[in-house]
Amino acid sequence: MGNNGLRIGVLGGTFDPPHLGHLIAADQVFHALSLDEVILVPANEPYQKTHRRKITPAEQRLTMTKAAVGRAAGLAVSGIELEIGGPSYTSVTLDALSERYADAEWHVIVGADAAAGLDAWYRPERLREQATVVVVNRPGADFGPPTGWSWELVEIPSVSISGTGLRRRVAQGNSIRFLTPEAVIDHIREWNLYRDQG
Ligand code: ATP
Ligand code: MG
Repeated sequence: MGNNGLRIGVLGGTFDPPHLGHLIAADQVFHALSLDEVILVPANEPYQKTHRRKITPAEQRLTMTKAAVGRAAGLAVSGIELEIGGPSYTSVTLDALSERYADAEWHVIVGADAAAGLDAWYRPERLREQATVVVVNRPGADFGPPTGWSWELVEIPSVSISGTGLRRRVAQGNSIRFLTPEAVIDHIREWNLYRDQG
């Protein structure tokens, strides 16, 4: 990592669907750490989830994530994990991103729930060298990665919004308005997503 490179945040996830929790986390970290950019990176195959439930096709999750971010300053969306293909591993993604952004200093953003599971990620010892872990608080999750990780906390306004909650609300016919941008809701309607996923 060189001193002249950009300081970039990466928020990986399934984004099924993306919602205000993701956007608030990305924006708050962008400002709190004075990053040059935060990139939201939808997983191609979220390997920790694929055996548990039906995952919306990656192309649709990528499109929804782009719609969610819109033209928000400082935020970007990358389809790099779809380009790589197969199961998505943050450590591999960072290697690929590093080829495009020489000398960048990477900050991997995780909610407190995801932070707790970092040891189970692919190549944890390599990931530790590649990036600084930035944890944001999330309702119902304790702070912090397991021991051995260096990390920093960015406190954000807590939002009890989750992809699981949104999918359930759609399945039950409840409103998701204002929990995710209108452009995301338009896609969910257009593609008839989550109707059968209560
Ligand atoms: P699901 O319920 O399907 O797991 P999710 O809302 O947790 O969906 P993910 O795509 O799994 O969304 O999350 C991607 C990243 O964003 C994870 O690091 C997660 O901890 C973080 N995150 C998601 N929602 C929030 C939130 N409301 N507050 C803070 N962090 C969040
Ligand atoms: Mg999750």
